[in-house]
Amino acid sequence: MKLPGLNLQILLAAVIGLATGLLFQMLEPDSRTVAVGLYASNIVGGVFIDLLKMILIPLVFTSIAVGIANLQGHGQMGRVWKLALAYFVLTMMIAVFIAMVFSNIFKPGEGMHIAMFAGAMDQFHAEQMTLPQFFAQFLGRLFVNPFAAFAQNNVLAVVVFALIVGIALVMGGERYRQIHQLLQEFLELNMRIVGWVMVIAPLGIMALLIKLTATQDLAMFATLGKFIAIVLGTTMLHGLLVLPLLLYLFTGMTPLTFFRGSREALITALATSSSAATLPVTLRCVEENLGVKRDVAGFVAPLGATINMDGTALYEAAAALFIANLVGIELNLIQQMVVFLTAMIAAMGAPGIPSAGMVTMVMVLQAVGLPAEAIAILLPIDRALDTFRTAVNVEGDMVGSLIVDRLVNVEPVNPELAG
Ligand code: ASP
Repeated sequence: MKLPGLNLQILLAAVIGLATGLLFQMLEPDSRTVAVGLYASNIVGGVFIDLLKMILIPLVFTSIAVGIANLQGHGQMGRVWKLALAYFVLTMMIAVFIAMVFSNIFKPGEGMHIAMFAGAMDQFHAEQMTLPQFFAQFLGRLFVNPFAAFAQNNVLAVVVFALIVGIALVMGGERYRQIHQLLQEFLELNMRIVGWVMVIAPLGIMALLIKLTATQDLAMFATLGKFIAIVLGTTMLHGLLVLPLLLYLFTGMTPLTFFRGSREALITALATSSSAATLPVTLRCVEENLGVKRDVAGFVAPLGATINMDGTALYEAAAALFIANLVGIELNLIQQMVVFLTAMIAAMGAPGIPSAGMVTMVMVLQAVGLPAEAIAILLPIDRALDTFRTAVNVEGDMVGSLIVDRLVNVEPVNPELAG
């Protein structure tokens, strides 16, 4: 029997995973079937994520260093990073704006009583994080011994080191031609390994989704229904309307072509809730399915996976307004602007790992005097909401790579190696 293409396999796997997870919800939680099913899902899903993480750091390092060296060689680097940054900021601003408008109209949380959640809040101790502390912590994470950064899967520090190496390669020119060549070949090799990892992607995704759906506390969803509806609705609005529209306006690519080419990455993001773990798949999709030049994608996508988080920014703002309603605090315009800004900064500072947004959200709450402990209310539903916001985060990185690629129009330095 001939298997369908990978793209379709992944879609089918996701559907089967969700359906099986729901079935497990209906069965006795401690029945044998559920126990064995969850045990197997844990192992398979874990191996898939481990494989993605294994290739992540070498891939981020080589793709950024080589991307910069090649782009700079063409005098295009300045344009690429300025465009990428402008795109990141603009789309995050739109995302936060949408969240705030809808939250102000529908006011989720109003009329609910915080006392309902007292038990959860008692057990939760948020670490204090003010804006200056956040900046100090962020700066402190930028420059790290590269070996430590590599060993600890510290994506942000690896990105920074790769940027520096890329620039040094260009400054050195001919002198470092061989290192440049070697890194280029190493990047090619990493992409080949990503191709292998993708062979088990359907199984991994199915396992992760089974585990995710089977272990959700559904009662909590009903209680927080309105808030969830607003977060999901606005996240969808951003992912299905705003980003595709921007893409169409700047590149002429239709949503159908885009979603067909990006599906593998979007579903992987949904299943892993991690933009960083998804990055190898993201790069593969933009380069191989959507035709972005490797030098541009190699720079924009990894940078995006670390700082461009539309879904997270949107969520942080919506959650802050929800908590304000819940505790009965009316935020004035200035406070709302503070939420707007801090939500963006908190999203940029959140690493691309599951529930990272929850941690940096403490800063948003504290900036307007809301109780950080209230995050405990959102924790039980976070894993589920994180799926969609991570998918939109990853979508934003792909749309950004396509738009920047179209706007800079560079030729690869070495067509054979640059893909
Ligand atoms: N899980 C998100 C990501 O990896 C970050 C977050 O919002 O928690 O993109």
